Amino acid sequence: MKSIYDYTQEQMIEEFLQFGEKEFRATQVFEWLYRQNVQSFDQMNNLSMALREKLADFYDIGPLKIEEKQVSKDGTIKYLLKLKDGGFIETVLMIHDYGRSLCVTSQLGCNMGCRFCASGLLKKQRNLTAGEMVNQILTVMHDTGERVSHVVVMGTGEPFDNYDAVMDFVRIINHPKGLAIGARHITISTCGLCEQIEKYAHEGIQSNLAISLHAPNDEIRNQLMPINKRYPMDVLRKTLENYIQKTNRRVTFEYILLKGVNDELKHARQLAHYMRGLNAYVNLIPYNAVDEHGYQQSSMKDVEAFKNELLRLKINVTLRKEHGRDIDGACGQLRAKKVGDKHVDHNKK
Ligand code: SAH
Repeated sequence: MKSIYDYTQEQMIEEFLQFGEKEFRATQVFEWLYRQNVQSFDQMNNLSMALREKLADFYDIGPLKIEEKQVSKDGTIKYLLKLKDGGFIETVLMIHDYGRSLCVTSQLGCNMGCRFCASGLLKKQRNLTAGEMVNQILTVMHDTGERVSHVVVMGTGEPFDNYDAVMDFVRIINHPKGLAIGARHITISTCGLCEQIEKYAHEGIQSNLAISLHAPNDEIRNQLMPINKRYPMDVLRKTLENYIQKTNRRVTFEYILLKGVNDELKHARQLAHYMRGLNAYVNLIPYNAVDEHGYQQSSMKDVEAFKNELLRLKINVTLRKEHGRDIDGACGQLRAKKVGDKHVDHNKK
């Protein structure tokens, strides 16, 4: 059964017209779902009983089941949610001074095989639908009673390996008659699938792009991220140049500092060189150690030195605040614990 959350406003109108319903009915339903955040067709009291029943026969509605919930001292909430087909996904709510940001999962498992990441412990089972991504937000808003103001597609999965559903997802949550989450408050993070970055540049969506770079040169990046063999750093850079030119938007580079791997001053200088002339900034991320992988977090001293070197070279840099340090913070860790994901071969050399 399809979920009612799978539809963009335009798709819903089309669907309703095919049903022999008027266009404005689709808009009413869309508003009930996202402006009123109702959880059943029954509550849509400006629709006829007959239509409400018909909709209930055809579409899934209602929140995902909260299988487990961990609340951190800093207010971060990590959810383990159960999909209708029984799959488990994580979604994380972070409280910032500027609002509430939700880290959304885009795939059940992931095939990118980054060596430091807990999400890749489970190979991709399937893509999530747009509705399953939307429902992560609705479920959390319902649970907390508060609006989610920012969305980062940085949970498990590679969003650009699930491109169409992720674009629908962005359109649904961005729609002014829907959740109306501003495009500039939505960030898609990719390990660097260049063809999709190019496509994204032409979508006419104002949402942000973040690139998981994590290395200053191909040698290190090849070790950490298999995707770099398909799209080496010069190809990625060229793609980003085009993206920035086309969209006039600034790109974020995410850079996890791994002790003794990519955290030396010479690496900072290489990174600065790579970024020179790109409208981009670096977000340094303290590594959340994953037992299975053996990498360690860089010392605070090295992190500061790395940051200062970038600053000295006039590179814009921020240091990501750690959230939920006292709970299973790294993507995929809660799921792995619950479901027992083990280290799998595609993460090995
Ligand atoms: N596949 C996408 C989005 C999911 S990962 C991407 O690669 O961007 C979201 C971010 O968390 C990425 O930058 C990823 O590299 C980072 N990440 C993964 N494991 C981490 C860990 N253990 N500690 C800190 N950051 C991690």
